Amino acid sequence: MEMTPLQNWIARKIGVNGSELTRELIEQYQLQKLRATLELVKNKSFFYRKTLAGFRSEDLSCLADLKHIPCTTAEEIRKNPLEFLCVSQDQISRVVTLQSSGTTGEPKRLYFTKEDQELTIDFFQIGMSTLVSPGDKVLILLPGKLTGSVGDLLVRGLHAMGVEGIPHGFVQNPAETLEIIIKEKVDALVGIPTQVLSLARYRGDGGKTVPIRLKSVLLSTDYVPLAITRELQRSWGCQVYGHYGMTEMGLGGGVECQALNGYHLREADLYFEILNPKTAEPVPEGEEGEVVFTTLTRTGMPLIRYRTGDRARFIPEPCPCGTILKKMAQVTGRINGALEVAGGVLTMRDLDEALFPIEGLLNFEASLSCRNDLDRLNVGVWMNQEGGEQGIAIIHKALESIPLVTSARKQGKLEVQVDFLGEGNPGRGPIKRTIIDLRKRGR
Ligand SMILES: [Zn+2]
Repeated sequence: MEMTPLQNWIARKIGVNGSELTRELIEQYQLQKLRATLELVKNKSFFYRKTLAGFRSEDLSCLADLKHIPCTTAEEIRKNPLEFLCVSQDQISRVVTLQSSGTTGEPKRLYFTKEDQELTIDFFQIGMSTLVSPGDKVLILLPGKLTGSVGDLLVRGLHAMGVEGIPHGFVQNPAETLEIIIKEKVDALVGIPTQVLSLARYRGDGGKTVPIRLKSVLLSTDYVPLAITRELQRSWGCQVYGHYGMTEMGLGGGVECQALNGYHLREADLYFEILNPKTAEPVPEGEEGEVVFTTLTRTGMPLIRYRTGDRARFIPEPCPCGTILKKMAQVTGRINGALEVAGGVLTMRDLDEALFPIEGLLNFEASLSCRNDLDRLNVGVWMNQEGGEQGIAIIHKALESIPLVTSARKQGKLEVQVDFLGEGNPGRGPIKRTIIDLRKRGR
């Protein structure tokens, strides 16, 4: 097994050889960058000048001191993104507008300088070298038309390592996308888990799958259900890697190594913490909590202790790939996506692992509503023609494999409604999948 290429890359950025890299050197570097970032935002950003008024960068004597600094929330960025800027607006080369997934309206805007984008391209190049080699072709199932979009930066990162990146956009028509894969002799795919699944489960004439050969797949944008990874491995016999990132991180955050059980992180550009979501205190090493990060090298809109809303944990045990870099386990969903039902907790992950193994299921959405004091789990499914409306009974049966659903139903505390929403891939964009809680509004 090859060591993650991130180790040598991070060593280079810190100014040492890969074999000389130690945790201590990384932490010294991170502390120095954190202090510099705090100085920068206190001087240049209107928002942090207010929130960090009483704090001096020299008060940060070790990384653990960071816990005394307040976190930044998505809501704060949404309210006034320009207050976060550390450069004038004419130095911004890319603005990303993220629509709110809830009903609260205001979109979130993030600003990047050319230098910030170069850092992302550099990370994409090194991250992708885990799964492709010079001469390979990668089909990118993410937006790539606009300069500075994720697909565009990925194409540039791949080009720098002698790999051809083909920007494709989201999968709208699986038959067409599969045709391109065959015609272009594509070696690898980068895409959203459910969209890539729709390719593996597409049934052409005569109900047959379209046989394609792939070397590897990188799943990105949303957390990755294990059931989807298994299905892609089974269908295509390829390696399935996970990437963790979000626009706020500068798109890239971490990528899996060949051990395929957690992400090595972009530790020279980002400092990660796992906090208890209720108290915002760091959790003991290895425990699950909310992923929080601070940018170490961003110039346009640095973020201090940004709460991602994602749930994950660090893996304290050494990685079989032999690196000294930290490893974060796969994200298991959204912090606010764990909903209380009949005295237990139900998550999208529970539903994903129960439902995605079902042959013919392409995607689903779920919500919890309440009527006459009775909770109701609503699941709407998209199936391929093979599943169709007959699939509903199979969905009900699979939901019964979740112990909480079964016990809540037996106790008369939950009813389950499954609806067939359509045949084929719903072609949805990068919406983070989570159970929508409609109960408060309904009461
Ligand atoms: Zn590793």
